[in-house]
Amino acid sequence: MKVAVIGTGYVGLVTGAGLAEYGHEVTCVDIDRARVDALRRGECPIHEPGLPELVRRNAGRARLRFTTSTPDAISGAAVVFIAVGTPSLPNGSANLEYVFEAARAIGRALEGFTVIVTKSTVPVGTADRVRDIVAMQTKQPFAVASNPEFLKEGDALNDFLKPSRIIVGADDQRAVATLRELYRGMLRISDRLMVMDLRSAELTKYAANAMLATRISFMNELARLAESVGADIESIRKGIGSDPRIGPKFLFAGAGFGGSCFPKDLRALVHTGREHDVQLTVVDAVDRANERHKRALGQRVIAHFGGRLDDRRIAVWGLAFKPETDDIRESPALTLIDQLRSAGAKVVAYDPAAIANVRTLFHEAVELVDNAYDAVTGADALVLVTEWHELREPDLARLKNAMRQPVLFDGRNVWSPDEARRAGFVYYGIGRAARDATRVR
Ligand code: NAD
Repeated sequence: MKVAVIGTGYVGLVTGAGLAEYGHEVTCVDIDRARVDALRRGECPIHEPGLPELVRRNAGRARLRFTTSTPDAISGAAVVFIAVGTPSLPNGSANLEYVFEAARAIGRALEGFTVIVTKSTVPVGTADRVRDIVAMQTKQPFAVASNPEFLKEGDALNDFLKPSRIIVGADDQRAVATLRELYRGMLRISDRLMVMDLRSAELTKYAANAMLATRISFMNELARLAESVGADIESIRKGIGSDPRIGPKFLFAGAGFGGSCFPKDLRALVHTGREHDVQLTVVDAVDRANERHKRALGQRVIAHFGGRLDDRRIAVWGLAFKPETDDIRESPALTLIDQLRSAGAKVVAYDPAAIANVRTLFHEAVELVDNAYDAVTGADALVLVTEWHELREPDLARLKNAMRQPVLFDGRNVWSPDEARRAGFVYYGIGRAARDATRVR
């Protein structure tokens, strides 16, 4: 099937390359010429495991093309996906200007019956507005559908190519039939395509992200209580995660959640509630709890050194909002770096993939290094924010030799407190502080 994808970000590029992998003929459009040029040269503009190979393989077989021209991409396409960004506006609502601009460009370029699909995360009612915008531009027949994306960065290919479910919101049977045909290759083992009305599909995406974020904020708050009462959040996590009604995933206490989705989607959902006079107090609290919690790690570092960090050198490991991505949008590491710098610290940081993105933000204000152990030389403390695999089993002896003071802040509870203490470190985790205070050997 001939497919066009508008936007070649994390979602658009994975969608385009993933559908091409299933044999479809895909053209991806982006208004960012440099990005399109890079993709045409076979370079992948984002860090996502397996994506460069998938893009190159399918581009090589002429099933995946890149262009800056929407009419060129849409010509002959049976399905057009809108996968552009929907960032937050200052009032918390989703900025839909990119979606609507894409809809106008699609409307102007339609040549015959086409299914127009919103894959971006968009507030309830957006597909209806897209339909109106397209209708103002064209006399050609078309149908709209909502097909929210549930991939997670860092494991996006797996999620897209083997989805737990495909949600299709549509009130036009032609749209449903076309999308069922498009996704057939992914649904051979079981039919995981769920059809619902447009608004339910749009809201399902927000509900999913709000639920996942709620679990994290819940555990982060409980971690603070665990510290205060002398309990261990890791034991509690295992204790509740084994209950099949709860399940083990998304229960890790840590440095707080970030990324381009959870914070903005929570705020957009609260905003939608407000517009409809429905108070979403739980969702609102999750966002606020996370904003507060994102500062807790930095506060702990500052408190350890007596309230100021002048002349302190603090090493930070992990800057991306999660492992296996270069995405730093709303990353807790950025909050931490701001706090440390405001308290007077010199920050030296390492990340396996996100250094370039961080450099565009902080320029020379933060020393960025290419090797994890270069960051700790002469450091007064090491803070782990993002639990990349390569950072999970540090060489403690090497750290001890390199650091000025043996102080570890494990923002993801991935290091062994006992091993760290045996090696002579002061160890701080999340939700485990009571043990740290009483059992330092
Ligand atoms: P992104 O910012 O990485 O990419 C968006 C791309 O769209 C950019 O390259 C931009 O240049 C391009 N663009 C903007 N307007 C355009 C236009 N008119 N024509 C062509 N290209 C245009 O965004 P993303 O992270 O891929 O997210 C896209 C959407 O998917 C958002 O609504 C997001 O909430 C949702 N989503 C994201 C994820 C994720 O993990 N990143 C997961 C699920 C859903």
